[in-house]
Amino acid sequence: MHITIIGAGVIGLSCAYYLRKEGHEISIIDRGNGTDNCSFGNAGYISPSHFIPLASPGIVAQGLKWMLSSSSPFYIKPRLSTSMVKWGIKFYTKANQKTVAQNAPHLNNILQLSRNLMVDLDRELNHGFQLETKGCLMLYKTEKTGHHEAELAHEAKKYGIHAPILNAAEVQAMEPEVEVDVLGGVYFPIDCHLHPVRMMESLRNKIVGMGVKMLYEHEVLNFEIKNEKVVSVITDKGKFSTEHLVLAAGSWLEVISKKLGINLLLQPGKGYSVTYPNRQNNLKYPAILVDDRVAMTPMGNELRVGGTMELCGINHQINMNRVKPIISAANSYYPDLSLAVPPSKNVWSGLRPCSPDGLPYIGNSPYHNNVTVAGGHAMLGISLAAATGLLIKQMIQKEPTEIPINHFRLNR
Ligand SMILES: Cc1cc2nc3c(=O)[nH]c(=O)nc-3n(C[C@H](O)[C@H](O)[C@H](O)COP(=O)(O)OP(=O)(O)OC[C@H]3O[C@@H](n4cnc5c(N)ncnc54)[C@H](O)[C@@H]3O)c2cc1C
Repeated sequence: MHITIIGAGVIGLSCAYYLRKEGHEISIIDRGNGTDNCSFGNAGYISPSHFIPLASPGIVAQGLKWMLSSSSPFYIKPRLSTSMVKWGIKFYTKANQKTVAQNAPHLNNILQLSRNLMVDLDRELNHGFQLETKGCLMLYKTEKTGHHEAELAHEAKKYGIHAPILNAAEVQAMEPEVEVDVLGGVYFPIDCHLHPVRMMESLRNKIVGMGVKMLYEHEVLNFEIKNEKVVSVITDKGKFSTEHLVLAAGSWLEVISKKLGINLLLQPGKGYSVTYPNRQNNLKYPAILVDDRVAMTPMGNELRVGGTMELCGINHQINMNRVKPIISAANSYYPDLSLAVPPSKNVWSGLRPCSPDGLPYIGNSPYHNNVTVAGGHAMLGISLAAATGLLIKQMIQKEPTEIPINHFRLNR
């Protein structure tokens, strides 16, 4: 079959990899030039530890409190947008214990599947992802956060995830070269991390080597439909016929799906990262600074620091008022690092494609016979990429899926 994938982010590339392996003819169309999108500047975590969806009890009250501060890690820009209002209502109604209890097992299934597939894929690509399987630390400075993290560690046991709780001295022992100023932490040995740029480059090189055609700098504008099938994709550079279509357009998924009459609730969640090259002293372990929602990732001799979630529509503006607290949180947990606030031109921003219930959209269009959607992975796109690619391949080939996927359907 000739399959067209829209979007050359990690989700599009992973779908291409699993589909091409089965012999399908694959074209990927992207409006960018293949050097940047949300999949490049992220923290690079593969996080089975994140089995609790973003919409969870307490998040709404915490979010409203944070919204009053110009430097908080979470912000919703007030704006007249019907899709934002609909998304917000759905998020609000999903942020409860009952929904978390329903969704967490499904998130856990796909996270664990994907973690194992990513490790295999990295091995197959001669460690091109620079993937490390040493785990991740959740660090905190307050007792309240400590209790919350301990509950999470306890919950993790239900899924067979081992997560020892550490005191400050035990955390320090894991980082012998830099001072760590925390009350304690939880260690998730199952987590992994990789170098996102290396991962994107090696996966793209791999699929191009397998014969996947990349159409960069082509913007998809519309579709031609005949008998409930998309027969061609209309771009600003011409029309391309196709037998099957996969929508993997990241934060633009809502807009592009709408052109096919598919209504998905999705909001871009802007985040920032700063990468410090040539570190003399670096961390041994990646860590999430839980009180401040900051992610620290050592990548060889580079250190990436990232954070914030701004729901402000599609925009890549850098707001230094939100970047500075990310860097000061990093310095406060790790005083020896002495990280400088960079000029705004050195700050990366990316748009996480956020569904309101914290689960991805992996499913067939209810209105077409040949359209499949892969998106809405929010803060877990790297973590879930490999499983998403495999599941999309299995759906398109009408095979039994590795794990149940009903919870990821589009019209849930
Ligand atoms: C600060 C930050 C840290 C993060 N850390 C992590 C982490 O540690 N672990 C993790 O798992 N996830 C993390 N994420 C989330 C992760 O980066 C995303 O979930 C993931 O990159 C989404 O991939 P994607 O392929 O869906 O979208 P993208 O990478 O955004 O790719 C979508 C592509 O679609 C293309 N496109 C859209 N519309 C059109 C059109 N009309 N025509 C042509 N092309 C189009 C775009 O150009 C784009 O290239 C983080 C995100 C941020 C912002």
